[in-house]
Amino acid sequence: MTPRLSGLAALIFVFALPALAAPADRIVLPTDVIPTHYDIAITPHAAVLTFDGHIAIDIAVAKPTSQITLNAVDLVFTHVTLSGASAAPRITFDAEQQTATLSFASPVAAGPHILTIDFTGKINQHAAGLFALDYDAAGGRRRALFTQFENSDARRFIPCWDEPARKATFTLTATVPANDVALSNMPIAKTELLAGGTARVHFAQSPKMSSYLLFFGLGDFQRISRMVDGVDVGVVFKRGDADKAQFALDAAAHILPYYEDYFGVKYPLPKLDLIAGPGQSQFFGAMENWGAIFYFERDLLIDPKISTQSDRRGVYITVAHEMAHQWFGDLVTMEWWDGIWLNEGFASWMELKATDHFHPEWKVWLEGLGAKEGAMQVDARAGTHPIITPIRDVLQANEAFDTITYEKGQAVIRMLETTVGEDAFRAGVRAYIKAHAYGNTVSDDLWRELDKTAASPVTPIAHAFTLQAGVPLIRAVSKGAAFQLTQDRFAVDSSGAAPTVWPVPVTVVRGEGKWSGIVSRDKPADAGFTSAGVPVVNAGQTGYFRTLYDASLFAEVETAFAKLAPADQLGILNDTRALGYSGYAPLSNFLALAREARPDFASPVLSTVARRIEGMNNLYDGLPSQPAFQAYGRRVLEPLFAKIGWTAKAGEAQNLTLLRDDLLSALSALDDKAVIDEARTRFQAYVRTPSSLPADLRRNVLQIVAEHADAPTWEQLRGLAKTAPSALEKEEFYTLLGTVKSRDLANRTLALASTDEAPLTVRPAMVRLVSRRFADMAIDYAASHWDAIKVSLEPDSRSEYVPNLADNSYDLATIAKLRAFAAAHIPPSAQGDVVKAEGAITFYAKIRAERLPELDRWIAAQPK
Ligand SMILES: [Zn+2]
Repeated sequence: MTPRLSGLAALIFVFALPALAAPADRIVLPTDVIPTHYDIAITPHAAVLTFDGHIAIDIAVAKPTSQITLNAVDLVFTHVTLSGASAAPRITFDAEQQTATLSFASPVAAGPHILTIDFTGKINQHAAGLFALDYDAAGGRRRALFTQFENSDARRFIPCWDEPARKATFTLTATVPANDVALSNMPIAKTELLAGGTARVHFAQSPKMSSYLLFFGLGDFQRISRMVDGVDVGVVFKRGDADKAQFALDAAAHILPYYEDYFGVKYPLPKLDLIAGPGQSQFFGAMENWGAIFYFERDLLIDPKISTQSDRRGVYITVAHEMAHQWFGDLVTMEWWDGIWLNEGFASWMELKATDHFHPEWKVWLEGLGAKEGAMQVDARAGTHPIITPIRDVLQANEAFDTITYEKGQAVIRMLETTVGEDAFRAGVRAYIKAHAYGNTVSDDLWRELDKTAASPVTPIAHAFTLQAGVPLIRAVSKGAAFQLTQDRFAVDSSGAAPTVWPVPVTVVRGEGKWSGIVSRDKPADAGFTSAGVPVVNAGQTGYFRTLYDASLFAEVETAFAKLAPADQLGILNDTRALGYSGYAPLSNFLALAREARPDFASPVLSTVARRIEGMNNLYDGLPSQPAFQAYGRRVLEPLFAKIGWTAKAGEAQNLTLLRDDLLSALSALDDKAVIDEARTRFQAYVRTPSSLPADLRRNVLQIVAEHADAPTWEQLRGLAKTAPSALEKEEFYTLLGTVKSRDLANRTLALASTDEAPLTVRPAMVRLVSRRFADMAIDYAASHWDAIKVSLEPDSRSEYVPNLADNSYDLATIAKLRAFAAAHIPPSAQGDVVKAEGAITFYAKIRAERLPELDRWIAAQPK
């Protein structure tokens, strides 16, 4: 069922929003030379981390020119020719713009030419361009190669027009060890065996696509596969991991036909590989290369011995996300990086839609409310930005891969789908995909199609929510049998000072009655009801806004809280906490609702209660009133945990397993002695007999023991890391060392991260985990070890690593440290994450100083 909207058409002319920066502000390549096909030959030298390349590019020259400029970085050109040119060009590189310019003595004639370049390049040890991941295997140390190009690192692999709108076809040939498996977007067309144990592998020609989607991989791989709807669907992994790959293959086989139906277009390539690489990146888990999706192992492989229900759900969702991109992103691509939200917001929404279709028992839409909440927190603070933000260059493009792009994007798309209705929305998406297949788009291309299929135009709402930053606040004030709804802006600092107008689609339910309409700053609405019952604004919680009930309405909500639908319980809990943190309403309202939690509530609601209490406890760290808060938290959570206990019952719902994770994590944080003692006992039994702990409990026990570790336990965990039988387990144990509560031991973890004991890509994760408790220490460490750390971070994303270490801090002194680091190491144009982190620190410091005392008084007044 779909609420009909009233008064929508009238709003179309009201919103005169600022236009995007003119494309002239972008730094892009000249468009008078058009690449149409790349013929690439690569010979990697994995042992010495270099490669040789040869490329022949079919170009069309639109008008005579004496210069051709394309992208290249960290490549050395050894020979360059152009068909039809009498002499070799002069070559100049611009390191800052990441371009190479070929200057010809006489102008190149208009028309088709072939540009050939011989070149050499570097294999990196971070995920940019062609990169290596090393791991321990039965026969000793092994090295696998992969590529990672989004957003702008194809230029580290081949000279090319490395912009999403410059689509072309690609053929790739690789000369590789004959025993290794080589992979690309397309299947292998032909393999020639050469002398010396090498082979030349020719891949079939790709469809027309953007350069950032090209892929090459090489290693001692195995593949399992299944034909699905005429598509060869495979999972590729390092030798020996076949038992861990089945789950992802099943997921992909489910999801492919679902998407073919949803998008109304067959998957266009003959094969689809999901490829697992060992290790991790600080910035991404998976990448949607067309036909050759790359995942770090923990996002794709399920090890029956150690993986949890939460891991299974996570893998399923990530598989669904990347597969959605095969259409939304790969087949139809944003014209420029300011449209990246269209890729990511859509895939983040689609991952939940597809997962909910096949696994309704996971209730992922309720989880999606948590993601929306994360976006609304960031969107209400200094440093937020509109979903669609002008992007000038590559560095700014990196900053766009953030919570606003993914999660606000997801939430806004969900709101639009609910507003126009599922069928009309899908019809619009199908028309959009059909109209723009193999092409590039801007957001308005999608809105135009939806306007045709929806009962009322969506463009005004879509523009208001994508071109303006911030979170609307809907105030509900009791007015007899009705209530008045007004629109304001929810903000926690000066970021919200500017009055902003949104046409907000609002649905209100009271008992059997329902009201839907548009509420905006200049058009308040009265929602009238004849029915009695609990008032719920944003019923179903699909709207992107917060609701502030007046005191009498909130009292009604509180009294009837246990009877509300789970989504509404969740949304109200989240709003209540946020409004309390920001001073719109007492923060104790949150604890009053949390107190209403009953064991029979939907698991995701109870999980949220547990996580929020754990989060508040973090803000109490070091305050004298923390023990009283912890005691209150335990009083709320212990009865919930008592009901589900340590041991899973046969046939237990999967969400209950996830709830157990959250309750144990929260009770551990609240220093619950019984939980900590029990975890320690189970851990010692596990060390003697690893099979004594079921996979679903294993991680919980390890986390609790690590959090409360003393020095001997820290050494014991490190010993387990050293001897761990798989890359996944090694990674797990080393990162656990970052979660210790003891400052001394956290220091010891940092010292360990500066040695080469832990895998290279895991070391920055250890530092990041330390930062969650000891941001100051982690930043000091990162500043003094920056040269060593940055080697394993992708160059384009380095500017966000240290701001991310800071943004859990509530200590204003951290801001000075962050600024000092930024001044030395972060380019001025890439400091958006610094501003965001400062906004977060200031906000948390304010909560500690101004809101927690109110909570203390409320807790003290409660009956014991
Ligand atoms: Zn994505």
